[in-house]
Amino acid sequence: MKINAVCRQCRRAGVKLFLKGEKCFSAKCPMVKRKYPPGVHGPKGPVRLSEFGIQLREKQKAKKIYGIREKQFRKYYEHVSKRDQPGEELIRLLESRLDNVVFRLGFATSRHQARQSVSHSHIKVNKRKVNIPSYQVKVGDTIEVKQESRKKAFFINLTKKLAKLKPPSWLTVDPKNLLGEVTSTPTSKELEQSIDTSLIIEFYSR
Ligand code: SF4
Repeated sequence: MKINAVCRQCRRAGVKLFLKGEKCFSAKCPMVKRKYPPGVHGPKGPVRLSEFGIQLREKQKAKKIYGIREKQFRKYYEHVSKRDQPGEELIRLLESRLDNVVFRLGFATSRHQARQSVSHSHIKVNKRKVNIPSYQVKVGDTIEVKQESRKKAFFINLTKKLAKLKPPSWLTVDPKNLLGEVTSTPTSKELEQSIDTSLIIEFYSR
C-alpha cells in the first residue's frame, strides 16, 4: 500500500490525526494496518522519548490536527499562558476557529477542506460572509453554507449526510438549511482525539 505524505504525518505521530476526510474513518486508513513510523519495516518496541521529546510531540500533534503554523500556535499559547486554566483555554481557542467549527458541524470532511470552504467564501457567520479560517466564533453565532454555494458538488448531498452526524454538544445543526449554531463554549471533553494540553503548556513555558 502506497502511503501518501499526509498519512505519513499520522504514522510519525503514532496517532490518527484525521487529515484525509472520509478515508480516515474507513479501513483504507493506513493507521489501521501500519501503525508504526514511516521508513520502519514492521512494528518495533516502544520508542523512548525524553521529557522534552514527549512535550514536543504533543505540541506537533495538536498543530497538525488543527493545521496551524508555529507562529499562530505560539500566539495562542501567549494568549492563554496567564489564565487559570491555560490548557482548557487553549482548547477553547482551537475549537472556536471557524474552520474547525465548519468541520465539526459536518459541513466538510476534514479541517483542510473546511479551511478551503471558508477561504473560498462559501461560509457565512451571522449572515455575513467570513473568509478568515482563524476567525473565532462565540456562543450565539450562526454558521451557514452560503446560498449560492449550495449548488457546488460537495454541498449538494450534504443534507442527507448531516442527518446522520452528531455534532459536539456545544453545536447544533439544522441539516435542511445547512445552518449551525454555537450554543455553548467548547471544552476538552468532546475532542475527537485526546490532546494533553499540559505537555504543550510545559513545552512553551520552558
Ligand atoms: Fe491518513 Fe486519515 Fe488515516 Fe491519518 S487518519 S493515516 S490522514 S487516513
